[in-house]
Amino acid sequence: MTDKYAVFGNPIAQSKSPYIHTEFAKQTQQVMSYQAILAPVDQFSQSLMAFFAGGGKGANVTAPFKEQAFAACDELSELAKLAGAVNTLIYLPDGRIRGDNTDGIGLVTDVIQHFGDISGKHLLLIGAGGAARGCIKPLLQAGVKLTVCNRTFSKAQHLAELFTEFGDVIATPIDELTSSFDLVINSTSAGLAGELISLPESIISTHTQCYDMSYGAEVTLFNQWALSQGASEVVDGLGMLVGQAAQSFNIWRGVMPSTTAVHQVLRSQLS
Ligand code: NDP
Repeated sequence: MTDKYAVFGNPIAQSKSPYIHTEFAKQTQQVMSYQAILAPVDQFSQSLMAFFAGGGKGANVTAPFKEQAFAACDELSELAKLAGAVNTLIYLPDGRIRGDNTDGIGLVTDVIQHFGDISGKHLLLIGAGGAARGCIKPLLQAGVKLTVCNRTFSKAQHLAELFTEFGDVIATPIDELTSSFDLVINSTSAGLAGELISLPESIISTHTQCYDMSYGAEVTLFNQWALSQGASEVVDGLGMLVGQAAQSFNIWRGVMPSTTAVHQVLRSQLS
């Protein structure tokens, strides 16, 4: 029987995961199917169990279910535990569910691909939601000196305390950011609502490279602002999306797909 995989979300029609994983499967000659499943907001767990009972081998999870997926797991990877959220589920042969979080490695892989070695760079992470939390350990492991800021400062403080054992990380209130950074990553969802975050101009200088986890057909609002402040380079989060998918695929199938062609097709479809 063909091995079945799926992505769960609500909404889900916009998801690019079925395309991405179908292309990865073709490229690596894996016999598998991958579908998008719209789970009712109050019935994620039931939808997931029905999928696994029907032969599902693994699943991705997107908004708003990453925390519920975390709670549904019988065992968790270290990254999932630290992130407090799961985007990759594995149905184990004994019927237990294992959860992992590939968002952070997807981000760091894409950042390094675009900007080169980030070790020793001073990085500002804007935002302290689920995506930020999933990325902090992989960023610290890549050797950055990290400052986290957030509209709600207490959340940034909490993350800095949580990850202090893994590297050089502090929290700073947005209005106390006075110097520029080598790298600035926007992990807020402000752009999705068409809002521009209010940030001090001083964080950007002509050597600053910027990464926005959001992506779209146009240059994102945050990246537009960064360019207007003189940033040297801006990149959006499409590569992170493809990168986290490649990590999930590798966990399930034991083979790492190439991301280049899929990334290029998605980019041309967007524009
Ligand atoms: P959360 O809802 O968990 O966190 C949202 C964050 O954005 C919080 O820090 C929140 O601040 C901040 N925020 C929201 N609106 C504003 C605003 N108007 N001004 C300032 N700050 C604001 O979301 P996630 O962390 O899950 O996702 C964040 C973004 O990352 C989304 O755009 C998502 O699409 C993207 N993402 C991209 C991925 C990819 O593969 N490219 C993967 C995962 C996420 P506060 O705490 O004050 O509310």
